[in-house]
Parts: sequence; C-alpha cells; structure tokens
Amino acid sequence: MAHKDADTKVLLKEKDLPTKWYNIQADFPTPAPPVMHPGTGQPIGPQDLAPLFPMALIKQEVSQERWIEIPDGVRDVLRLWRPSPLYRARRLEQALGTPARIYYKYEGVSPAGSHKPNTAIAQAYYNKQEGVTRIATETGAGQWGSALAMACQFFGLQCKVYMVKVSYQQKPYRRIMMETWGAQVVASPSTDTQAGKQVLAADPDSPGSLGIAISEAVEDAATREDTKYSLGSVLNHVLLHQTVIGLEAKKQLEKADDEAEIVIGCAGGGSNFAGLAFPFVGEKLTGKNRKLRAIAVEPSACPSLTKGKYVYDFGDTVGLTPLVKMYTLGHTFVPAPLHAGGLRYHGMAPLVCKLYAEKVIEAVAVPQLATFEAAIQFARTEGIIPAPESAHAIRVVIDEATKCKEAGQGKAILFNLSGHGHFDLGAYEAYLAGKLQDYEYPAAKVEEALRHLPAVKG
Ligand SMILES: *Cc1c(COP(=O)(O)O)cnc(C)c1O
Repeated sequence: MAHKDADTKVLLKEKDLPTKWYNIQADFPTPAPPVMHPGTGQPIGPQDLAPLFPMALIKQEVSQERWIEIPDGVRDVLRLWRPSPLYRARRLEQALGTPARIYYKYEGVSPAGSHKPNTAIAQAYYNKQEGVTRIATETGAGQWGSALAMACQFFGLQCKVYMVKVSYQQKPYRRIMMETWGAQVVASPSTDTQAGKQVLAADPDSPGSLGIAISEAVEDAATREDTKYSLGSVLNHVLLHQTVIGLEAKKQLEKADDEAEIVIGCAGGGSNFAGLAFPFVGEKLTGKNRKLRAIAVEPSACPSLTKGKYVYDFGDTVGLTPLVKMYTLGHTFVPAPLHAGGLRYHGMAPLVCKLYAEKVIEAVAVPQLATFEAAIQFARTEGIIPAPESAHAIRVVIDEATKCKEAGQGKAILFNLSGHGHFDLGAYEAYLAGKLQDYEYPAAKVEEALRHLPAVKG
C-alpha cells in the first residue's frame, strides 16, 4: 500500500520504455467478430485493405500474438517524451477529502499535447518501411492531424490533412501546428477530390464534417500509388500502439507499491482508454485480477456504448469503409457541437465494444457542464488544464473518489489524462462565462440514424 511520503511523480528511465506492445486479442476467450465487406457480406481479407494500409499494420490488425515487438526506430522517437509521468493527485484527494488514492498518467507531455503521437509514430514508421512516401488523413479539431504531421516529418513522409472546414476557419492554431511540422492542410470539403467536389456542387457553403473529410482522405489514398491512409483511433492496431501507456503505468504503480482497483479513461474512438486499461483488463481476463473495474467515459450527447446498438455498421458517415461490429448510434448520426470534439464519434473501437458486451468493462455517460466543473476543480488543485475530452474521465474519477469517501474505502483509482487543454481555452471561456449548455440525450436523432444501419447478419 502506498505510504504517505511516497513520490508525487513516479518517473521511469528511458530504458524502461516498453519493448513490446500488448495485444489483448490473445487473451480473449472467443475471437473478435470479423470485419465485413459491405458489398459481399463476407469477411474481408488483407488484400482488401492493402490499398489503404501498409501490410505490417494489416497484420497487427488481425494478430493473435500476445506481445508484438516495438521496432527500435519507433522507440527512438517515443523516447523524446516517454515514459510519460504518473502523478499521484494528492491535492485533488485533499480537496475531495477522500481516502481514495488517485493516480493519473499524463499524456499531455507529448509534443502534440495528447496520446495520439503514440500511434502516429508507429504508423509513419511502418509506412516508411514499406516504401510509402505520402500519407493522407482527416482531422476534426486537429488533434490527430497534428500528431500525424509531426510523425510524418520525423520519417520524411509527406502528409496531407483534410481538416473539417468549420474547424479550419475557427480553430487556426492546430492548423498552424500541422503546417509548422510540414503538413499540407486543406479545408474539407475541398476541390482536391471528387468526393469534395460533389459536396461543394450540392452545397458551396458546406461547413464540412468528419465523414466528408474521411471520404476525401480515403479517396486520395486509394487513387494514388505513393499514398496510404491513416486513422488515429478505433482500429485494433491503433489500440495496440497505445498500450505503452498502461504498460508504463503498471511499472510505475509497482514502483509506488500500489495496485489499481479502478481504471478510468474517456472514450471517443476508444484508443486512450484501451491504451491505459488493456494491460490491466488482460489480467482480469486471465484471472489474475478479477476484481479490477475498468470504466470508459463518454459524453451524454454522444453515448455510443451506453445507448448504442451492438451491430455491424460503417466506420464513416458516408458509408465507404468496411463494416465493423460495434456499439453504434448509426453512421448517419451527427452529434451536438460538443466542446470535446474528440468524443464526437458515432461508434466505438470493436475491441472495447466486445469487452463491454461481455461485461468485462463498464461504461458511463456524463453531461458537458458536470464535465467542465470537474475540469476546473482539477485545474485548480493539480494545475494542469485538461483537454475537455480527458475531463470526462476526471468527472467519473471525482464521483468514484466521493463514493470511496462515503463508504470509508481507500481504493486506488488510476486514470488517463489523455491531453492538455491549451488549444481548448475557447471552451473554458464559454464555461466560465456561463455560456455552455448541456445537451439532452438525442433519442429521436439516434432512433432515426439507427434506421439506416446496413443489413448484415452478425
Ligand atoms: C482524440 C482524443 C481523445 C479521444 O480519442 P480516443 O481514441 O477515444 O482516445 C481523447 N482525448 C484526447 C486528448 C484526444 O486528443
């Protein structure tokens, strides 16, 4: 049990950086449902994905190996900011008067300010290895685009980012980061693709959407020999690359002589939650730590796990991607303009969904105002201004720590502080001025979107 004078920051040496990623699929009692081809209704094979992704990533996507070697070329870049610190949130504990011990893994120390470079670096590395010279991707507010722009620069790849037009116009700072790291950024819909031209022909003033931007990036990659596509969340290989977070955290808790009983992360596509939680959840699956609770936290306005259906659906809004089995609100669902842009996704990572369906992990949805209230309490006690996405996790951490207080239980709670909020100060300004609102659960919109699910058995 962690004693009173234990460190506030638990730091690891660079040599403690994990040498292997943990693949939770190896510990599943039953295999994950296959990804389906929308045309044939049959499971897709590697050749279907080859135009979009390098073969090494396609292999990782379906690998059943428990441990996958992290190439030295990836570790050499990760060590610029990894291992990331594990903090004990003593000042927050004191403010709450809780006997719980609260720990957070801080991923905001990466140059892009979030956990996303953990996979961007690996993806750029494998593309480079396989002779790709250019990567196309989409980005909403720019968290993913900035991580990939930096990664491409490190490996000498060109990077083209289709950025949702409203964000391009309203949030210039992340665009400038991408350009600083050498990426070419265009507002989507753009005239650079057929998909973009079509949208513009129908609506010259289209504000864009993540779905449209995905269509543009996928078309770009599929129609150019030198270019592949890259995704920042949801896919198995992305979750795999993020497990460095949980593997480090386990070592750090050992150093602190403590053991996590509750592990919490916010969940948009599921990658930072999985990255922290999977190494712990794996021990639950193999019977080593049956009592562990892992909680994924989503916004009430976009509650895919807690209100969605576990069915096959498209990964994108337009309906171009293969079909994956996941908790979904329907691929045509458009969530309210929440300030946690990274959590506005209609689906969820299939691996996270399977664990939720089998009741191995839990999920909670929290409203926007209560989330910002938690963010402010965290900033005023611990100092770090959290990303609005990460603040969803903090809301539930505070709620669980408060339950510990009421029950007089000194549990160890670990959460992922997936990024800082330095580019989200507009949202903080709105909250502090009393201008933020809660969005009701959009039952009618979800019901309507669920009517447009593709027909697949599964
Ligand atoms: C993108 C992002 C998220 C949401 O994505 P996940 O794949 O669910 O992790 C959460 N936090 C931050 C800081 C992000 O940038």
